[in-house]
Amino acid sequence: MDLIATAIKGTNDVLPSEAYKWHYIEKTVAQTAALFGFQEIRTPVFEKTELFERSVGDTTDVVQKEMYTFNDKGGRSITLRPEGTAGAVRAVLEHGLFNDALPVRAYYITSCYRYEKPQAGRLREFHQFGVECVGAPLPAADAEIILLGRMVLDRLGIGNVTLQINSIGCPKCRANYTAALKSYFSAYKEQLCDTCLSRLDRNPMRILDCKSPVCKEIAAGAPVILDYLCDECKEHFEAVKGYLQVAGVDYIVNPHIVRGLDYYTKTVFEFTCDQLGAQTAVCAGGRYDGLAEELGGPHLPSLGFAMGLERVLMLMEKQNLPFEEPAVPDVYIAPMGEAAAEQAMKLCASLRAEGFSALTDLSGRGLKAQMKYAAKIRAKYALVLGDNELTQGKANLKNMATGAQVEIELPHGLVSAVYDANIQTAFDDLNDTLEKFDKQS
Ligand code: ATP
Ligand code: MG
Repeated sequence: MDLIATAIKGTNDVLPSEAYKWHYIEKTVAQTAALFGFQEIRTPVFEKTELFERSVGDTTDVVQKEMYTFNDKGGRSITLRPEGTAGAVRAVLEHGLFNDALPVRAYYITSCYRYEKPQAGRLREFHQFGVECVGAPLPAADAEIILLGRMVLDRLGIGNVTLQINSIGCPKCRANYTAALKSYFSAYKEQLCDTCLSRLDRNPMRILDCKSPVCKEIAAGAPVILDYLCDECKEHFEAVKGYLQVAGVDYIVNPHIVRGLDYYTKTVFEFTCDQLGAQTAVCAGGRYDGLAEELGGPHLPSLGFAMGLERVLMLMEKQNLPFEEPAVPDVYIAPMGEAAAEQAMKLCASLRAEGFSALTDLSGRGLKAQMKYAAKIRAKYALVLGDNELTQGKANLKNMATGAQVEIELPHGLVSAVYDANIQTAFDDLNDTLEKFDKQS
């Protein structure tokens, strides 16, 4: 094959045979979000570049190195969303949702775009499940958001995940801390990477998040924010930890978590797993009390998280976890000849009208090849339609799993036979289950 184009590096195709895994994950996250009162928000895939510069922060890796930014034909600078929070909060503000009952609880399942070096679990187009809780200042909100993340992972069955939490304080405590960082990192000016050198004056906290091995090593000895928290932030953090203990959620305090986005304040957290290759975070989030104001809105203490769905999928596959099986076709009709093909079309239509999935030949294959195809797509039942069947007005409905056949009257007997056969199968399954149960007890 000599394709004129292949997929762009760092992007993934989800093929029909794999889509059910995504459906299962998406359904589970949406249902869990609903248990906590979250409703879906959908925002555009692109936004004005300033939105991300202001919210994510113009000294972050995301803004400095990773954004897909371009000028549209009108000369406006546009960016493909690198994350979901900025767009969601922009929409909440723009539509005045904060005038209704607070907090606003919104979740999204969305694609994100970052120009990164592709590797396992790190893509240029990836997908996030995210939640945003806008207008919730209490520490109970921090705990609730963390519990939601934990519950999603639990419901999917993902094990081996550690919750790490930290507090990075508010602008008040940040001032003293920033000064301490500046004086610490100033001693290493010669060794810091160029990006971090430029961050030293503007935003030294960002150096703590640098991925370069040298900067990482230097950062390991830096002062930690927990020693600089103001009383209010300290109290808030203690309360969050208290709620987590009450809820029976294990965590470790990791004073080195600072998160890669500028808008965070107070609580930050990550769910990490060492089965993810070079990266470890499957879900990350925190509080962003200043973001709404930064974007020109009112003061709205808020928080949220984002979960990388490719990483969720990767963990589920590594841990051999079950996905809800995709539905298989109910009936495959194998017609032999023109007249039978017309009849097959009609029969398919009547089955579909009753909610059964029905397929027939679209490729001009012989009978043997058609039956092979029916087995391959795992059709539950198959029906052969030839001249004999048409003249006699009767055909055999074959159960593909057992080989059992029932004779049906054409055309009206088919739908009821499929109904009956389905009920019989359900009944047999139930009997099987009961028998197993009897044997166990
Ligand atoms: P990392 O440390 O892995 O670069 P991050 O701090 O940049 O992550 P966030 O911006 O907090 O990540 O995004 C939240 C989640 O989205 C991450 O925990 C991860 O699961 C997922 N994620 C982030 N970047 C990517 C990517 N390039 N490919 C796939 N998933 C990603
Ligand atoms: Mg990153």
